[in-house]
Amino acid sequence: MEKRNTDVLVLGGGAAGVNASIAAARHGLEVVLIESQGCLGGSRTAAGVDTFYGFYTPGENQKRIVGGIPWEIAQKLSIEHSSFERPNTYGAGTGITYDVEKLKITYENMVLEAGVKLLFHTYACQVNVEDHHIMSVVIANKSGLTEISAKFYIDTTGDGDIAARSGAPFDKADSEDLQSLTTIFFMANVDVEKAKSIPHQKMADLMKEANRSGTYKLPREDGSWHRTPNKGVIQCNMVRVSGVDATDPFALTLAEVEGRKQAQEYARFLKEYISGFEQSFLIATSQHIGVRETRRILGEYILTEEDVVRGAKFEDAIACCSAPVEDHHSGSGTRWAYVKGDGIYHIPYKSLVPQNIENLIVAGRCLSATHGAQASARNSAQCMAMGQAAGVAASLCAEENSSFRTLNVKRLQRRLLEQQAII
Ligand SMILES: Cc1cc2nc3c(=O)[nH]c(=O)nc-3n(C[C@H](O)[C@H](O)[C@H](O)COP(=O)(O)OP(=O)(O)OC[C@H]3O[C@@H](n4cnc5c(N)ncnc54)[C@H](O)[C@@H]3O)c2cc1C
Repeated sequence: MEKRNTDVLVLGGGAAGVNASIAAARHGLEVVLIESQGCLGGSRTAAGVDTFYGFYTPGENQKRIVGGIPWEIAQKLSIEHSSFERPNTYGAGTGITYDVEKLKITYENMVLEAGVKLLFHTYACQVNVEDHHIMSVVIANKSGLTEISAKFYIDTTGDGDIAARSGAPFDKADSEDLQSLTTIFFMANVDVEKAKSIPHQKMADLMKEANRSGTYKLPREDGSWHRTPNKGVIQCNMVRVSGVDATDPFALTLAEVEGRKQAQEYARFLKEYISGFEQSFLIATSQHIGVRETRRILGEYILTEEDVVRGAKFEDAIACCSAPVEDHHSGSGTRWAYVKGDGIYHIPYKSLVPQNIENLIVAGRCLSATHGAQASARNSAQCMAMGQAAGVAASLCAEENSSFRTLNVKRLQRRLLEQQAII
């Protein structure tokens, strides 16, 4: 088997992995980033989710609570007129809606400019562990298998694939509690102004009516659509595929099939029932079904829903969050719980440090959190902020010759603040 070495191996190029890679590479480390899809972004691109939430606190006097590399990314999109801000209908604060194709290119440019070695169409599949240290990760692609050894590993697979395979403990909700999966779809030729005149509740009522007619099967009598930066093109978040463990490849495959089927059904509904959609047509379903929750790694600290709701503050904070708990449970509705106090809670560094393995850190939606807390902390701005923190942590571990567990967190916080992160 071919063998390679690097300083840092980042596994998964979603929101968290991109930020982790850029942060570590900007500190002069050799970074290899492995991504199973043919683009960067994960949920943010391949799954068609086109709005960053979590940058701002909700409410009238909104405050920006995420800076650093994530904000640099948002600013690049704004300067190129590829994004706009819009209010969230469920009280999660202002979102930043962007052109998915522009985000793909922005991520690629930034990762490559930082000097990251990028590998698309490559799966990280096997882990070799000795004495609580990952010795190497085996990757698979068109060349076959390659073994990569690194000083530090960052698991940003969303599913915690590498952490789990290395023996780090993790938790997973039962299938009835797991957050549902969604195939995002885009429709073109929509008369957006006309369609906007139909209130959200009216659309939900019409979904019920369509189901009652017996000619439609719409599992979720709710959901939303919004305009995109491209004229007449809208993004739809309506599909609901429940009770699926997305780490089971057979179940994930069936979910892709079911999600695409539902997307066709919702598109047919919109065209027939909602004025403004008469001349519209479905132009794309997401290349990967959107996965909200799978494994949550058990770390040095497990963030709880109680922490989220009371606006908990931690001495080892590496990111802020004010996004509500948004639990897309298996029923037809969504459970919301809002952050109280000053409306902000901290994501602690200890929630990125897995138990049992020394040279591994996780970031993004597989952080150490309970089901309820993850349903808030998984917002994209926070995943990006966690990624930056993980990348900077790797660089400091290299400088200090320490492990993630023994890292001087005060130094990490100082370094993050110097890079305009907000904590
Ligand atoms: C349907 C849906 C709607 C959402 N809506 C919003 C919203 O409006 N606003 C918001 O802020 N957040 C939203 N979120 C949440 C947010 O987008 C995600 O939680 C966040 O982007 C997750 O980022 P991540 O980097 O942790 O994981 P992911 O985006 O899942 O990225 C993981 C990456 O790792 C890759 N990968 C996985 N396994 C391997 C492997 N073994 N080897 C190599 N590569 C691998 C994947 O291909 C992927 O690119 C939504 C999520 C979903 C699913």
